[in-house]
Amino acid sequence: VIILVSSVAVLSEVYGDLLRAAGATERLMELLSARSPVADPARPVALPAVQGGSAVRFEGVGFHYPSRPGMPALSEVNLDVRPGETVALVGPSGAGKSTMLQLLLRFYDVQHGGVTVDGVDVRDASLASLRGRIGIVPQDSTIFSTSALENIRYGRPEATEAEVIAAAKAAFAHDFIEKLPEGYDTYLGERGVRLSGGQRQRISIARAMLKNPPLLLLDEATSALDAESERMVQAALEKAMADRTTLVIAHRLATVQKADRIVVMDGGRIVDIGRHDELVARGGLYARLASMQFGLEAA
Ligand code: ATP
Repeated sequence: VIILVSSVAVLSEVYGDLLRAAGATERLMELLSARSPVADPARPVALPAVQGGSAVRFEGVGFHYPSRPGMPALSEVNLDVRPGETVALVGPSGAGKSTMLQLLLRFYDVQHGGVTVDGVDVRDASLASLRGRIGIVPQDSTIFSTSALENIRYGRPEATEAEVIAAAKAAFAHDFIEKLPEGYDTYLGERGVRLSGGQRQRISIARAMLKNPPLLLLDEATSALDAESERMVQAALEKAMADRTTLVIAHRLATVQKADRIVVMDGGRIVDIGRHDELVARGGLYARLASMQFGLEAA
């Protein structure tokens, strides 16, 4: 993950979440001092208007991080995601799942092949238009030191209060926000009301829904929530995934079961693609992962 120093304003939505998503402190320091390896093209190609979600294509993608030449994070990755499709990425740690999402956001450029969104190579679009088309729900959602309303409005700064509330309702966040001491005006964050993990996730989902992007990138939380929270977050995610294209790094059984396709990754390669039942029946890497992650019996 690299912070784009030049377009922080454009990226403000992505920025905070990425800082948080980056996690480890040393990583963060690395990020803050990093310069973006990507730049806007001299003559950006406009992304076409789309309805019902973006089309995404990875074509012969080979990629290594600039700091690790000769150590490919992705090799020969081919993937076609249809508009509206929900694709779950699964695989062991280091398989390349987050790298896929980072390339879609063009935090780095590939060394081989190409990544296109709605038919336009991500290197040919302006960073602002590319990222404007993409919503992100990170594993660990950032809550800013401001009101609940402003926390959600972050998803689309020009949104009206009514639009913020509609997004909160869609993300099943409205009810708990209304019960906060000052409702939508309640101050959150470090010196404000502390939210539960599930509540933070729903704020983050509401932000993404307010932005209403044709492409949603989701990094599902690994940490367990209580059953009630889990149900609400799942319901919110399902709403968020409807009518748009979603790529989700999946950690939940419910998510992989509902995905249109599951992409199984290992060592930077796609090793299998299918639906949950198919892949379990095949008894390969997916079946083993499923038995570890979801407690399913390997076939
Ligand atoms: P996890 O489930 O642990 O998040 P992942 O499937 O998302 O794993 P990636 O984070 O995409 O895997 O990592 C793919 C490879 O790239 C790994 O070998 C990883 O160590 C390496 N990698 C990831 N991020 C960076 C980075 N910023 N700089 C250098 N190497 C990186």
